[in-house]
Amino acid sequence: MKTSKTLEKYEKLVGKTFGKLVVIEVTKTISEFNKVNHGIKCLCECGKIVTPKVSKLTGGSIVSCGCFRDRQWAKGYYAWVKNEDKRSL
Ligand SMILES: [Zn+2]
Repeated sequence: MKTSKTLEKYEKLVGKTFGKLVVIEVTKTISEFNKVNHGIKCLCECGKIVTPKVSKLTGGSIVSCGCFRDRQWAKGYYAWVKNEDKRSL
């Protein structure tokens, strides 16, 4: 039996955080030709569940479900983290 390297790679992502998204699980869908496709499911900080493309997530082009302005992430993320810290103290 062939081991899925893709699946292994995806499983390692579970629990990791990318911007506002946390990878919660690996998804499995079976196509009409019995081909197994794997993907990942993420939980956004706002509570929304999304299934982004892994390459986009790990490449940094997706950092939220869309509730956050992704393009401003690089500029605003650290300021945002600071504010969050202040609020929780
Ligand atoms: Zn969101």
